[in-house]
Amino acid sequence: MLAAFPQFAFGAEGNYEAMVVTCIDPRFPLPTINYMKSRKMIGKYSQFTFAGASIGVVAPAFKTWAPAFWDNLAASMQLHHIPKVIAINHRDCGAAKIAYGADKVANPQIETETHKAALMEFRKQVGEKQPSLKIETGLMALNGKVEMFS
Ligand SMILES: [Zn+2]
Repeated sequence: MLAAFPQFAFGAEGNYEAMVVTCIDPRFPLPTINYMKSRKMIGKYSQFTFAGASIGVVAPAFKTWAPAFWDNLAASMQLHHIPKVIAINHRDCGAAKIAYGADKVANPQIETETHKAALMEFRKQVGEKQPSLKIETGLMALNGKVEMFS
C-alpha cells in the first residue's frame, strides 16, 4: 500500500515542498497533477484552489476572497513548513473574464499579458506578506503545458 501510494508515508504535518494555487476549472485538476508529477512532487505539496488561481487573490473584483488565501497560506506554512508557493493560472479562464472583462482575454497575446500582470501582482503581494517564501508563477495551456513567468 505504501509503495503504491508513497504520499501516504507523509503526515498531516511535516516538511513539504510547496503550496500550489490553482483555478476551480474542471478541466485542470488532471493536467495539474500531471504537471506536478513531471516535477516529481506528487504527495509533496499542499493545494489551494479558487476561481482564477492568482487572479482570485489579486483581482479587485474578488477582493473579499484574498483573506481566505492568506490564512490558508499561513496555515500551510505552519503545518507543512513549505518554502515555496507555486501559482498556476490557466488559459481560457472564465474567472479571468469575470475579473477583468472579455477585452482582457480577447486573444492569446492579450490573455498572456493579463495573466502575467496578475501573476506579477501575486508575486509582489506574497513578497510583502510572506517574504520568506520563494515564488513560482506560471500559465497553463489547455494541453497542460506550463509557461513560467518570473
Ligand atoms: Zn480558471
